[in-house]
Parts: sequence; structure tokens; C-alpha cells
Amino acid sequence: MSDAELVARHRAVLPRWMALYYREPIEIVRASGRHVTDADGNTYLDFFAGILTNAVGYDVAEISDAVRAQLDTGVLHTSTLYLIRSQVELAERIAALSGIDDAKVFFTNSGTEANETALMLATQYRRSNQVLAIRNSYHGRAFATVGITGNRGWSASSLSPVKVSYVHGGYRYRDAFSRLSDADYVRACTDDLRDVLQTTTSGDVAALIAEPIQGVGGFNVPPDGLFASFKEVLDEYGILLISDEVQTGWGRTGEHFWGIGAHGVTPDAMTFAKGLGNGLAIGGVVARAEVMDSITANSISTFGGNPVATAGAKATLDYLLDHDLQGNAAKLGSRLLGGLAEIGERNDIVGDVRGKGLMIGVELVESGGDRPSPDHAAAVLEETRARGLLVGKGGLYNNVLRLAPPMTLTEQEADEALAILGESIAVVQEGA
Ligand code: PMP
Repeated sequence: MSDAELVARHRAVLPRWMALYYREPIEIVRASGRHVTDADGNTYLDFFAGILTNAVGYDVAEISDAVRAQLDTGVLHTSTLYLIRSQVELAERIAALSGIDDAKVFFTNSGTEANETALMLATQYRRSNQVLAIRNSYHGRAFATVGITGNRGWSASSLSPVKVSYVHGGYRYRDAFSRLSDADYVRACTDDLRDVLQTTTSGDVAALIAEPIQGVGGFNVPPDGLFASFKEVLDEYGILLISDEVQTGWGRTGEHFWGIGAHGVTPDAMTFAKGLGNGLAIGGVVARAEVMDSITANSISTFGGNPVATAGAKATLDYLLDHDLQGNAAKLGSRLLGGLAEIGERNDIVGDVRGKGLMIGVELVESGGDRPSPDHAAAVLEETRARGLLVGKGGLYNNVLRLAPPMTLTEQEADEALAILGESIAVVQEGA
């Protein structure tokens, strides 16, 4: 039983638009490795990792020790007006990992703030408030980021400081070009980009911002090379490419350290957050120095890059790299994709299984057709929870299961999750 009184208090004092998962919401009170425990003592295998925030899992000694050492100095934070050694060191490491020549880094407290900053830099650099985004994208919840989010379910305001035009290349399973081969899809999307530029903009667009794999939009994977093809067009116009790596960064996609790596292009800027802090609030932008320094006024983030968050982030990055978690994500991602494809063959409510590394989407549809079924997704979520597995949900129609465990996942845990998903989907299939 969840704490009904706490649920009521939550609903009374927090906004209506802050949704809670599950008919009986969960309060997580302890966690270790890939497992979380709720207030009633139930333990779950966590396949959503706090929406990809727990990149390396819970209660990792190396990270806790680094944070504790900072707490022991008595300085949780003073101000970014003073030198913060761990901030400089972390920035150096991210700049080197970014692959961007002459890169500079600015730290924020969230992905939203990172994208707001990137948009401000691009619009400032290009002296234009026109932006391109991908249909069905999600980039954050503040003014400009909501304004460019290409999914009505998350566009909290129709007012916007930027003028946005949307291009294809996101929700391939259901978009206008869904039946095309990879090569034809890339061609069609690139033609669409040219057409959008010519018909809905004055050409002097600041940037195209894109998630290499859409997160909130349902873990949609575009064909490799799509963004290289886009970049050729962008370069003709001098338009910047911003890769939103908030979900796809830090090796989660397995093949590459950054999601954009699959496309063989270096963006002008990348934004990051979530996994870097392994639960601590940290995000940021890494960009070409010329773009980063296009702001000449003062601009400061009071808490961005504070000593506690940067100490934790440095330890997270060490852990990720020392343990080759990118390699683990590739290996266990393939295992999960294989197992899910088999589950899909047995159950016609599974319309699509897609993903890269440990970012896997399972799109649920009505039996006997391909209409999106948010009800099946909600039902599977309840069934997996009852069997000790937490998964996420998303997509334009809220009908996609999102699987994104900590990247320290073991083979045994992957198989356990597959067994639970197999049973849960079968139960919902039976009732369909
Ligand atoms: N970009 C992407 C791709 C995201 O998935 C999210 C969060 N879901 C954000 C930006 C915003 O990050 P935050 O919630 O930390 O502000």
C-alpha cells in the first residue's frame, strides 16, 4: 500500500501538471546498485534510473566518497564568483571528451537551463531568433525550450521568445516518411529541411537543435548519418548544430560516447545533464569558444558548477570511463533488444522495438492493428511494477515503454527484466 495521505498532500500542494506514475504512487526511500526500495519495503529493479539520471547506479562508494569529502570541507557552495577547482577540472575533461575544437564549457543545474543557454548563445551568435527543431522533440520546461518543444503534450505555453520551424527526422515509426528505407528516409528528411528553410524562414536561422535519439518522444532512433546530411545543408546557411545530449550522452547509446557520434559529425554545441551527476543536479553546455563567448554581458548561474555537484560529476565520469560502461551498454543493449524482439514476435500488441545501447523503446499498439495504445502501456507498467521492475513511459501518444537502466546493469539483471517484461506483456496481450 502506498501512503495515500502523502499522495493526497502531494496533489493538494504541488501543481496538477506534475504527474505521478502508478495507480498507487511509489515513494523510494533506499537504493543500491540497480535496485530501489519503497517505503513499504518492496524492492524493484530500476529500468528507468530516475529518467536516466542514475547513469552508474545507486550508492556507488567512489561517488559518495567524493561528495562526502567535499561536504567535510564545510563548503557546500559559496559562489561561482570564486575559483572552484573541481569545476575547472570537470570543464577541461568535458571539453576534451566533446571532440569540439577549442571547446568551452558552462555549467547549469538542469537540462532545461543548458538548452536555454545554448539557444541564447546561438541566437546571440547568429543575431537571429529563428530556430529549427525536430518534430516530436523535447528540450525542457522553461520559456524558450518549451517554445521549441515539438510535442503538444509538453508545450506548456504557446508563447515563445524564439520563432521555431519543425523538420522531420524524429518519430520515424509513424511520421510521413516511415515506409522509406534508411537512405531514402535521410534523403526525404534532408529535402524537407531545405523546403522548411526556404518556405518558413528567412534563411538566417540561428541553429538546429536535435536529440540524436528522442527521449521523451519515445526513444526514436533516426538512421545513422541523418545529421551529417542535415549538417551539409546547415553549413550552406551558416546555421549552428546543437546536439541535445541530455539523455544520449556519457556512452548510454553504446556505440558512441555522445549520441551524435553515430552521425559522424561534430556539432557546434552540445548540451548535457542527467547522468553526469548520477543524481546530483548538474547540466551544462559545451561549445566552440567563438560561440560560447558571443555573449559579452555578464551572465552567471548561482549554483551551476558548484563544488558538491562537480565533485560528484568528476567521480561519476571517472567511474563511467574506468569501468567501460559504454561497452557494457552496447553489450547488454543488444541482449535486451534481441530478447524484446522475441517478445514482440509472440505478442501483437508490440508494434515496434527500437533503441541503441541502454536506451530502448517498446511501442505498444492495439491488438490486430497499429493504433497507439496508451492503455496497454499503462497496464504493462502496473504489471511490471507488481513483479518488481520499474520502467518508464513516453512517446507522442504515451504508448511507448522506455527502458534505460543504470549502465552498470549485469547480464543476470537484463535477463530478469526480460522475463518480467515477457510475462507482463503477455498478461496485457491476453486481455487485449
Ligand atoms: N533535453 C532532453 C533531451 C531531456 O530529455 C530533458 C529532460 N527530460 C531535458 C532536456 C530537460 O532536462 P531537465 O528536466 O533537467 O531540465
